[in-house]
Amino acid sequence: MDRTAWVLNETELRAWLQDLIAGERTVVAPVAEDGVVVYRPLAAAGQAVLEPRGKARWSPKEFLFPRTEALYSYSFKGDAVAITDPPRPERPQVLFGVRSCDAAGLARLDEIFLSGRTDPLYAARREATTVVTAGCAAADPECFCTAVGGSPVGEEAADLQLVPLDGGWLLRVLSGKGEALVGEAAAGWSAPPAESGERVAALEREVAAQIGRNPVPQEWAKVLEGGFASPSWDRLAAHCLGCSICAYVCPSCSCFDMNHEANAWCGEQCRSWDACTFVPFTLHASGHNPRATRGGRYRQRVLHKFAFTAEGEAHFRCVGCGRCVALCPAGLDISQIVTAAAAAIQEEGADAAR
Ligand code: SF4
Ligand code: SF4
Repeated sequence: MDRTAWVLNETELRAWLQDLIAGERTVVAPVAEDGVVVYRPLAAAGQAVLEPRGKARWSPKEFLFPRTEALYSYSFKGDAVAITDPPRPERPQVLFGVRSCDAAGLARLDEIFLSGRTDPLYAARREATTVVTAGCAAADPECFCTAVGGSPVGEEAADLQLVPLDGGWLLRVLSGKGEALVGEAAAGWSAPPAESGERVAALEREVAAQIGRNPVPQEWAKVLEGGFASPSWDRLAAHCLGCSICAYVCPSCSCFDMNHEANAWCGEQCRSWDACTFVPFTLHASGHNPRATRGGRYRQRVLHKFAFTAEGEAHFRCVGCGRCVALCPAGLDISQIVTAAAAAIQEEGADAAR
């Protein structure tokens, strides 16, 4: 019997999930809350929304990079000051039922927080986290993972992968962490059919065919960056409200602000999510703002997703989850904006060469 893949029916999957919840780990999964699906720590397996399609309103990134957190705290006692590090994770956590696009978003956060100068708070949580992804059997209208190099059954950042097949789930081990999470639970599970690999490939093709957006060529990263001064950014961003919903729901956005909460006796240095589409994001104390225009701010967001990738990275930071497309109150579609910006920049270049 293959010890690295099984097929589970709904009852077996939820029984395993219940065992995980009862164990030593915190299990975080999509749950329905006031009509919206969001990631929450589970109290019971029945709470989990494990569907073959659809995604949570927010990505699970807040369980590795919280919306706000203290970096250190301090208190005064007479002339002495005591500095306290923030708490490290006491329990390991499992992110369960994460869509492949959101797992790819975690891989982008890893590149940001774990390369160069490692962020110790993120690193501690990441080390304590096991990711169980759930592939998609259908694309939502806003999805475009395949246009940016992803897949509805992508394996990036997954320790275990669930793939919806025949009304049940194929479960595959993809890392040592994943193997450890399965442990002895697999004793009663069935081996997958011999053709499961071909069926996963067929599912991938079927879902990819539902995604209407054209692939974004990798070469556009250079085109977009070369068009930094293009006047088209102002036109393309004309309707942006600067609300930053796009950045807050994005699985790969990582910007934060620092602030200090204190009184006469104690205080905390905190960081909180922030966004480049906010006017004050780059506002200097002098009053000068180097990104004073809407076009300049929106350009920053687009380039950070499609052009400003670190040396040696061969992929975009946008993972095509489509949340910003679905939730932008002004109707801006980043995949269409990228296409329009690249076309305008190339046209301007052609005009200049004539
Ligand atoms: S969600 Fe839309 S309107 Fe709001 S900042 Fe993003 S692009 Fe602009
Ligand atoms: S830029 Fe938009 S589509 Fe791309 S990963 Fe972020 S939220 Fe998803």
